[in-house]
Amino acid sequence: MLFRKPPSLPLRAEAVDPSRRDFLAMACACCAMAALPADPAKAQSAAVQRHLAAARAAAGDDLLSYLRLSEIVAPTPGARPMSPDELMRLPAPPPGKAFDNLFFVGSRWVSAWALVTSDGIILIDAMDNDDEAEHIIDAGMRRLGLDPAAIKMVIVTHGHGDHYGGVGYLKRRYAPRIVASSLDWTMMETQLEFDRPDWGRPPQRDMAVEDGSVLRLGDTSVAVILTPGHTMGTISLAFDVRDGARTHRALLWGGTAFNFGRRPDRLVRLQAYIDGTARVRDRAGREGMDVFISNHPIYDEAVDKLGRMGDGRPNPFVIGTAATQRALTVMHECALATMEVWKG
Ligand SMILES: [Zn+2]
Ligand SMILES: [Zn+2]
Repeated sequence: MLFRKPPSLPLRAEAVDPSRRDFLAMACACCAMAALPADPAKAQSAAVQRHLAAARAAAGDDLLSYLRLSEIVAPTPGARPMSPDELMRLPAPPPGKAFDNLFFVGSRWVSAWALVTSDGIILIDAMDNDDEAEHIIDAGMRRLGLDPAAIKMVIVTHGHGDHYGGVGYLKRRYAPRIVASSLDWTMMETQLEFDRPDWGRPPQRDMAVEDGSVLRLGDTSVAVILTPGHTMGTISLAFDVRDGARTHRALLWGGTAFNFGRRPDRLVRLQAYIDGTARVRDRAGREGMDVFISNHPIYDEAVDKLGRMGDGRPNPFVIGTAATQRALTVMHECALATMEVWKG
């Protein structure tokens, strides 16, 4: 197979500030990749409309980004979907500090998060390819004063190439442990669901985790929560983040879009997603999770939030437990609406 050399993505200040309309269009890129088009007649049914109304109510005016999951059944009129290629070509935003121990080193398309511990760094996801790992993750960490050689562990949230593609570069340079769920290790070894020529090759199986696993490095524990659907081995992560004297509980959702619509097991996947969002919504309440972040910045609006960080202002990543639960409700209701259409 021929591999096209990916375009170099220089680190420089963000020149493109997408309008809200562009953000909505980006929605489609993630949702619609290999998605099953919805039957417009079914999308008008009372059950679908009820779930969409519940999703909109939960979204309020602060969580509109998650409503893009409803694009499959209720597309935004006139929106031109921006392709993953277009998103990947946008200049990388500056890297940034979200918390004292959590740093964003990603692009407009896909996020990587560096979680700093007392004994090295846990990197969450590795972007699309070696070029991005070098020029966005590695260079971004250096710009933030972090030493990429301290990366001891790379957690791959799920087995799609935009999350594992840069692992090869990091493994060669820094020899971290590579962590993924058992299910997605098997998927990466046997049958990739999606592939692109500008995605790096899947990593070799290393450390496998399950629902309930806890990853420990230095003073930091990361709880692994299996949240299947996007892939059947998608993992979400819960960990503490510090903001000055305050500690918050962060939930990083590992796979958001319903881009499995053409697969024969789509109903099983969607039901797993419906169950997972409900289960984790309860857990978020019990554990007081008050930070909800993503591995694609179109959902958590991480780039925008980093631009709003400033002395004395409230940290925009701290949305509160109720809003974390509302975000999960938006995802849950959009999945229920989609189920109404897909189940026929
Ligand atoms: Zn994915
Ligand atoms: Zn992705």
